[in-house]
Amino acid sequence: MARMHSAVVEKFGAPLVLQEWDIPSPGPGQIVVKIEACGVCHTDLHAAKGDWPLKPFLPFIPGHEAIGRISAVGAEVRLMKEGDRVGVPWLYSACGHCEYCLSAWETVCGEAQFGGYTKNGGFAEYVLADPNYVAHVPDALSSQQAAPLICAGVTTYKGIKEADVRPGEWIAISGAGGLGHLAIQYAKAMGLQVCAIDIDDGKLAHATRLGADFVVNAKEGDPAEAVKKGTGGGAHGVLITAPSLPAFKQGVGMTRKRGTCVLVGLPPGDFPLPLFDVVANCITVRGSFVGTRRDMAEALAFGAGGKVHADIELQPLSAINDILNRLEHGDVPSRVVLDFAVH
Ligand code: NAD
Ligand code: ZN
Ligand code: ZN
Repeated sequence: MARMHSAVVEKFGAPLVLQEWDIPSPGPGQIVVKIEACGVCHTDLHAAKGDWPLKPFLPFIPGHEAIGRISAVGAEVRLMKEGDRVGVPWLYSACGHCEYCLSAWETVCGEAQFGGYTKNGGFAEYVLADPNYVAHVPDALSSQQAAPLICAGVTTYKGIKEADVRPGEWIAISGAGGLGHLAIQYAKAMGLQVCAIDIDDGKLAHATRLGADFVVNAKEGDPAEAVKKGTGGGAHGVLITAPSLPAFKQGVGMTRKRGTCVLVGLPPGDFPLPLFDVVANCITVRGSFVGTRRDMAEALAFGAGGKVHADIELQPLSAINDILNRLEHGDVPSRVVLDFAVH
């Protein structure tokens, strides 16, 4: 049987192990994708550390921003063929018939599977996928460019929509890393005024280059006060992408009266919600989880139309432990993408 290179989590909190695994073969209704590029998301770090209450079964291959071409098609696959270019995202599959699936909320389906978490993902040369849930990648985007859009892109695009903001209003984006640098661009393309918050001046300088109207370093004083001052009373929408608990209370604090604070970052743990402020100011606090297939098509269209551009650093699969280490310490400028043509 042919073999593939892969990076495997064998033990939570330990470095990934570079291994050769058998290339999967597609069962009925499945496809195999030969991966060209796969982004490295902070979620992969949470997965490798076993940070979350629902843990993946060991061993597993992380990675949920995988783009490539279909190399094998199982029986009963009708809509796709060998050679088609697709993305294998976090929302790997869902049941298709529960109340959530039927109302286009397949992201919260109780039977949903997650790429690179409950199913093996894209830190490998090949991946099995469900053709009903893959992303369709527009020709205008290279695989390397498309990769960050199928998680970081769709998540922030959907998160901004969930903030219920209108063109001209303010959105505050907390965390200007992989998710945040795309969120700034989606928000500008959607006609919003943008404030970006981070704890790293390099990330903030980049946020300004990407169009943020003003930036706040959360290490220099209370960011909620700075945002309230800069926006004349608070941001109409807040999108928290920072993988850090203090950012959550701060994010609620910078939300305008009647505004919406959207929680997207997933550090393990809880945060205190100041009840009086939330109630008396009629603030909505809402979680948002990746996006539906429809959101995915829209998020990719912004990329294909040149309105959103992922800033990527290409690395080989063999560099994965160094990349995860840098991600943990805030040393990745925007997004690292594993390029399978690079060795
Ligand atoms: P990243 O490491 O690329 O970026 C995080 C950014 O947050 C960095 O720029 C960092 O400097 C900044 N930051 C850290 N502490 C901060 C603070 N206190 N205030 C402001 N900024 C701070 O990570 P990423 O890939 O963008 O992922 C971010 C988080 O989003 C992770 O927890 C990830 O699991 C989560 N995520 C959630 C979804 C979802 O569907 N809800 C999807 C993808 C990722
Ligand atoms: Zn992700
Ligand atoms: Zn379902």
